[in-house]
Amino acid sequence: FMDHGIAAKPLGPFAERWAAFRKTGGPVAVIGGGVAGVELAMAMAHALGSKGSVTIIEAKTVLQGLSAPTRQRLLAELKAQGIALEENAEVTYVGGSQVTLKDGRTIEAALSVGAAGARPYPWLAETGLDLTDGYITVDAQLRALTDPSIYAVGDCAHLAHAPRPKAGVFAVRQAPVLTHNIRADLTGAARKRYQPQSHYLKLVSLGRKSALADKWNRSFQSDLAWVWKDRIDRKFMDRLNQPPAMDAPKIPKGAAKGMADALGPKPLCGACGAKVGASLLDDAIAGLPKLTRSDLETTPGDDAAVLRFGDTRQVLSTDQLRAFWNDPSVMARITALHALGDVWAMAATPQVALAQIALPRMAETMQAQWLAEIMGAAGEVFAAEGAAIAGGHTTLGAELVIGFTVTGTTGKAATLNGAEDGDALILTRPIGVGTLLAAEMDMRAHGDDVAAMLETLMTSQGDAARTLSPVANAMTDVTGFGLAGHAARMAEASDLSVEIDLQAVPLFQGAEALAAAGVRSTIWPANRAAVQAQVPDTPRGALLFDPQTAGGLLAAVPHAKAEQIVKDIEQLGHQAAVIGRFVSPEPVRLRAQ
Ligand SMILES: Cc1cc2nc3c(=O)[nH]c(=O)nc-3n(C[C@H](O)[C@H](O)[C@H](O)COP(=O)(O)OP(=O)(O)OC[C@H]3O[C@@H](n4cnc5c(N)ncnc54)[C@H](O)[C@@H]3O)c2cc1C
Repeated sequence: FMDHGIAAKPLGPFAERWAAFRKTGGPVAVIGGGVAGVELAMAMAHALGSKGSVTIIEAKTVLQGLSAPTRQRLLAELKAQGIALEENAEVTYVGGSQVTLKDGRTIEAALSVGAAGARPYPWLAETGLDLTDGYITVDAQLRALTDPSIYAVGDCAHLAHAPRPKAGVFAVRQAPVLTHNIRADLTGAARKRYQPQSHYLKLVSLGRKSALADKWNRSFQSDLAWVWKDRIDRKFMDRLNQPPAMDAPKIPKGAAKGMADALGPKPLCGACGAKVGASLLDDAIAGLPKLTRSDLETTPGDDAAVLRFGDTRQVLSTDQLRAFWNDPSVMARITALHALGDVWAMAATPQVALAQIALPRMAETMQAQWLAEIMGAAGEVFAAEGAAIAGGHTTLGAELVIGFTVTGTTGKAATLNGAEDGDALILTRPIGVGTLLAAEMDMRAHGDDVAAMLETLMTSQGDAARTLSPVANAMTDVTGFGLAGHAARMAEASDLSVEIDLQAVPLFQGAEALAAAGVRSTIWPANRAAVQAQVPDTPRGALLFDPQTAGGLLAAVPHAKAEQIVKDIEQLGHQAAVIGRFVSPEPVRLRAQ
């Protein structure tokens, strides 16, 4: 079965396989003749029409546990739809084009779907918890019998006090009790008991827009029942797909004039979206006393300071991120990689890091746990790059903020100002982080898109930096000011302009659709205003000003070498691209089309 069949759950892989199969069609075998298998068989028969046939294979008798009238009606419906039944038939082998039964007969099946009832996940057996038929035995408060600090609900649980079949109708009603009981454990309140309903409405879809309702040994079939089922299902899914809109920041009583405008209509973004705008920063830096030290080679505004010691240059940079994710270890990993971006962007090899951590106020045991997670994750990142965490500073504060000051060494630093006329502009990572995170905060982003993005942000770009360093004329990393901001800074420092091919810019999955829906990070308006740029007013254009966290390296590379370098970086597993080129200075610093 594992080689050729597909289980009806989890739904993701099944839906993918079914979508592909539907195009060609063919004979289908559904293994398991319970309500789920029968419902699935009818839906597939309806969808396939003349493009396929469906056979239900059942080890005993189909549709046990239903009232006699409902069973009779469903059997008649199966017959009317031309769905074949094989009862008292045990499957012994599932092949690519047929299923073999215990008695040696074979049934043609280009697609074999498993719907033979819920099966416990094998890992449950390794938990050491008391199990019943492989499921975690729980008490009336949904706590595992062996360890009351562990709760189990839904299909993975066996209700010792009131055993029930595995069905979503029970799972969904256990959820509020579970939430209450976990809160009760934390607050000292009384836990609730869960008592499953003895009768519940079964609405079986008949494939086409009609359904059969079954409760209290009665049944009726109608198109209305289908509308009813459809409405219940959609209402439930909408609660997951259309979460409530994000609250606007609360304005304190007696707030000064203009505070509402300053706070804006939504909470402050985390990570690089919380950065201070580029022009404010430039003004502040402009007010600094002029540099006097002879061993300091860079001007403020580059990725890192460069200090010369004989023939060696030491680069020095500091970064910190407001937490945008509730997992300290994920935050630590991303912040460490984000900080290292400045060392890599200077073509330097990471050396040491100093940590600055503000933990939210919490119990000492939790402080210890969070610190261990943060230092563990960050330590791993730095160690993999040959760098050590040499010290740091930790405080308690209003929220989690993690920062790292990092140093690195290099013979020759890749500064912002080395780009040459005609150089290709290479980017090593998709953009769209700020948009996805702003949407995530507003519960508008797709979980898969956010998960894929986080996975990328937790990946080191050290290997890409080592590939770029020997050939880059100038390099930076894309962070808070967005791709346009950082590219324009490079162009300005090199006294050039830059042209960006919008279609060539890699985007994180989901970012363009969210940008089209108007999602913007808090710092977006400041980023847009800071760059003298000609950019189309499109979602892709908007993403050029999207702040990035642990963003890609942006390098000016001689045109002739660019294509090979991109191939080399892609081979390392990164999504790199040539996204534009530097041109002689024009009135506009950055042009995108
Ligand atoms: C075709 C079909 C039709 C059905 N129709 C109905 C119906 O009409 N009405 C009804 O009441 N019930 C129905 N059911 C049953 C219903 O789907 C289940 O009872 C219900 O989904 C159980 O919910 P659950 O959250 O416990 O488990 P699931 O929905 O199975 O969710 C468990 C989740 O845990 C994840 N997981 C597993 N291991 C790990 C791990 N180690 N770490 C992290 N995550 C993990 C899984 O990937 C999965 O996403 C149907 C089932 C099938 C197959």
